[in-house]
Amino acid sequence: MTSDRVHISKVLVDDEIEALVLSVLRSGQLAQGPVVAELERDFAALCGVRHAIAVANGTIALEAAAAALELGPGDEIITSPFTFAATANAMLHTGATVLLADIDPETFTLDPRAVEALIGPRTKAIVPVHLYGQCADMTAFGALAERHGLALIEDAAQAHGATWKGEAAGSFGVGCFSLYATKNLTSGEGGLVTTDDDALAARLRLLRNQGMSRRYHYELTGHNWRLTDLQAAVAVPQLRRLAERTELRRRNAAHLSAALHGLPGLVTPTTHDAAGHVFHQYTVRVTAEAPLDRDRLAAALDARGIDSGVYYPKLVGDDACYGEHPNLVVEPTPHAAQAAREVLSLPVHPALEPAALDRVAEAVRAAFAEAGGAA
Ligand SMILES: *Cc1c(COP(=O)(O)O)cnc(C)c1O
Repeated sequence: MTSDRVHISKVLVDDEIEALVLSVLRSGQLAQGPVVAELERDFAALCGVRHAIAVANGTIALEAAAAALELGPGDEIITSPFTFAATANAMLHTGATVLLADIDPETFTLDPRAVEALIGPRTKAIVPVHLYGQCADMTAFGALAERHGLALIEDAAQAHGATWKGEAAGSFGVGCFSLYATKNLTSGEGGLVTTDDDALAARLRLLRNQGMSRRYHYELTGHNWRLTDLQAAVAVPQLRRLAERTELRRRNAAHLSAALHGLPGLVTPTTHDAAGHVFHQYTVRVTAEAPLDRDRLAAALDARGIDSGVYYPKLVGDDACYGEHPNLVVEPTPHAAQAAREVLSLPVHPALEPAALDRVAEAVRAAFAEAGGAA
């Protein structure tokens, strides 16, 4: 079936999901209820934490974490410029000032040394992003947070089941996950916040539901951040298959790295020794030594029926609405800027067979050969 396109992601809906969604529909309980509670229990177990609080999406997970930690005007939060806009947007919405630190060019995750250089008396939180499914250096960030008395908010939107030294993403600080349609675990739209802190979990549950502790009794001015049972029913069966699907992603990544070996200027992903990478994305760099640039490679792949993605072509701060934002501090981040020019994500999702991965690698090799490099 070589005429089929190779897509960058695929939602896998099986009989178990259909059956659970149908049973929720027939139950008449469509809003938050027992299936959300089941998702929360199972997800907390995955992360090895006491609490998971389901919310409407991953952006809200980040906003909720910041709100529960009472971050606000006058506080400073340090995060990565090389991430989805949601990371910075959520933090800016607290009214706090956001500082952007450079990334580690090998792993694309926030560089602890660059963060340390920005820590000052107003710093309250660090938001490492577990980009592409690989944890940031949580040993270093744990030590920094401890030494300076800072909160850690993990943007784990791409890192369900990822680990650092055997500990799960979402267990180091307040974990923020997305269940958006393209993520490794999905409910269409959805999110989860993870924490071991009982008081913080209680606050998150209040904030999620208008601040209401019991019917029409309000402890704070809250929100409607709830997920529905109908959405949770899509995610619960997937969670049981997550480990197996993560293994397939790892197998696919290894297959691609072997098949792409030796092309000039093509850098395959580096996994840190301490990281259990879950390959939300398989992201290569197309450097100046390659015979064609990243955008031409993407176009050549597209012409051969292969989807690819650029995550992300710009940095937080590059668009005018950020550049002019009074609460965003943009310093030069050369490693992040170079990554934005060079990265390209190739299909790695668990539904891909080895033959499809070979087509991806062959298409990359053909594009390099055509552009004048080694075949
Ligand atoms: C997807 C994503 C988010 C936001 O999640 P939504 O569910 O789309 O709101 C935040 N950060 C990163 C790194 C993401 O990939």
